[in-house]
Amino acid sequence: MLIHGKCHCGNIAFSLTWEPDPAEIPARACTCTFCVKHGGVWTSNPAASLKVEVGDPALVSRYAFGTRTAEFHVCVRCGVVPVVTSRIDGHLYAVVSVNAFEGVPRSLLRGGGASFDGEGTDSRLARRTRSWIADVDFRESA
Ligand SMILES: [Zn+2]
Repeated sequence: MLIHGKCHCGNIAFSLTWEPDPAEIPARACTCTFCVKHGGVWTSNPAASLKVEVGDPALVSRYAFGTRTAEFHVCVRCGVVPVVTSRIDGHLYAVVSVNAFEGVPRSLLRGGGASFDGEGTDSRLARRTRSWIADVDFRESA
């Protein structure tokens, strides 16, 4: 399954190749303070491959907080956060927002909350290397 997504204005766009076709897509409503405030609901698949294309990098805010090990790519023009990345031991991992999907039936999404409060940084990074998208091609136009 090839899933397309983007922020509202299209400055941050992604395509996610998810093989084999998923019967359902996990959608995790993160309970961290940032995600509660903007309604972040994320998915990832360690076997998927992700291509991110940014039209104008000057219009992307890379927001980090707390352990500062993840970057939330916030579109400055429209405010949407389609992707989060984390660089671990030089490797780029990512999760994407199911709310930024285009044309994916909502019935495919299997919701659930996820709280990572109290998780130490080491176990947090280890979890990301297991469950986040590990094949990430992040391109910014000049
Ligand atoms: Zn935008």
